Amino acid sequence: MTVRAGREFLAIPGPTTMPDEVLQAMHRPALDIYSSQMVELTESLLADLSKLFATKGKSYIYIANGHGAWEATLSNVLSRGDKLLVLESGRFAIGWGQAAAAMGAEVEVLKGDWRRAVRADEVEARLRQDKDHTIKAIVAVQVDTASGAYNDIEAIGKAIKSTGHPALFMVDTVASLGCMPFEMDKWGVDVAMSGSQKGLMTPPGLGFVAANGRAWEVHKKANLRTPYWDWTEREGSEHYRKYAGTAPVHLLFALRKAIDMLQTEGLENAFERHRLLAEAVRRAVAVWSEGQVLGFNIAEANERSNTVTTVTMNGHDPAALQRYCKEKCGVVLGTGIGELSGQAFRIAHMGHVNAPMILGTLGVVEVGLTALGIPHGRGGTEAAIEYLGENVGA
Ligand SMILES: *Cc1c(COP(=O)(O)O)cnc(C)c1O
Repeated sequence: MTVRAGREFLAIPGPTTMPDEVLQAMHRPALDIYSSQMVELTESLLADLSKLFATKGKSYIYIANGHGAWEATLSNVLSRGDKLLVLESGRFAIGWGQAAAAMGAEVEVLKGDWRRAVRADEVEARLRQDKDHTIKAIVAVQVDTASGAYNDIEAIGKAIKSTGHPALFMVDTVASLGCMPFEMDKWGVDVAMSGSQKGLMTPPGLGFVAANGRAWEVHKKANLRTPYWDWTEREGSEHYRKYAGTAPVHLLFALRKAIDMLQTEGLENAFERHRLLAEAVRRAVAVWSEGQVLGFNIAEANERSNTVTTVTMNGHDPAALQRYCKEKCGVVLGTGIGELSGQAFRIAHMGHVNAPMILGTLGVVEVGLTALGIPHGRGGTEAAIEYLGENVGA
C-alpha cells in the first residue's frame, strides 16, 4: 500500500517546483528571433537580472546550467596560470575551483569545513600574506547547497576590502538568488552568477552572470576567453549576439513569468517567506534531533541557509528514509552529497514553496521516521506549525 498519488513533490535543491503560471508561459509558439518583441524580452530580462543581483553592472544570460555559468565567469576574467583562491564551505566552491584548474588556472583552497561557513577573518589573513598580489580572484558561494552553509558575503567582502587587495571577488548565488538578500554592489562583489532552476522557479537551462566595471577591466586582458562565453562578443547592437546564437525563447518566456511573479510578491516578501519556512523546518529538525540520530549538519544556527537544510543521520541509512518518502508518500528528499554521501539527507525550501508544501514535507519525513523505527524526538512537525502560527501573524 502507498499513500502517493498525483504530482510528486520535489523537496530537492533543484530543479525545484515550477509554478503553473511559469509552465503555461512556455505553451506558445516561438518568437521571430529578429522581432522587436524578442529584443524587448531580452532587454527586460537583462535589466531585471541586474536588479536581482543588485548591481549597476551588466548581466548576461547563457544557455547553460550552473556549471556553465561558472565557466562563463572564469573564462571572462582569468588568464592562464592566474591564481584563484577558493573559499571552502562544502562542495560547491570546490567545484568552481576544479573547473578553473581544468581551464589552466592555479587553484588554492582556503581550507574550510563541511560543518561551518567561511570565516571572514581567515580570508583577510590569507590576503594580507599575499603581498605580491598573486591571487587574481576569490570565489565563494553564498549558500553551499551540499552542506547547507550560509556564507556572510557582506562580511567577506568587507574583509577583502580592508586588506586593499585587488583580487576580484566572485560569488555563486545559484541556491540563494531570489530567496535571500544579495547586494552585489554594496557588498563589494565584482562578479556574481546564478542559474534558473532553483530559487528562480524556471526550468533548468539558463545560467546568469553579472559583472561590474572592475571585472570588465580585467576581462579586457583575460586570455582564457572563448567565443561562446565572451562578454565582449555579447555586446553590440545585434540581438543575435546576446546569446551567441539562437535565443532560448521558451526558457526566456518562463523566466519572464517567474520574475514577474517575484516582483508581484515583492522581493522582500519572498525573502521573508523563505526565512519563515526555513525556520519552520529548523524547528522540526531540532525536535527530531532529540532522538540522537538526526542532527543539523551546520553547527552554528546563524550559518544555516534559508533555502536548504542538510540533516545528518547517525547510524541509520538516509537512503531508506528517502526511498520510503518517495515511494510511499510522493515526496522526494535531497540526497547527502560529497563528504555527506550516505550520511545525510537534505530538505530544500527554495523558490516556489509555501506552507502546505513545507509542512507536508515535514509530516512525510515524520511518517517515514515512524514507519522505519528511526528514533526521533516526537512533535517536530507540531513545532513547525507552532512556529508559523506564532510568527506569520493574523
Ligand atoms: C546547483 C548548484 C550549482 C550547480 O548548478 P547546475 O545547474 O547543477 O550546474 C552550483 N552552485 C550551487 C551553489 C548550486 O546549488
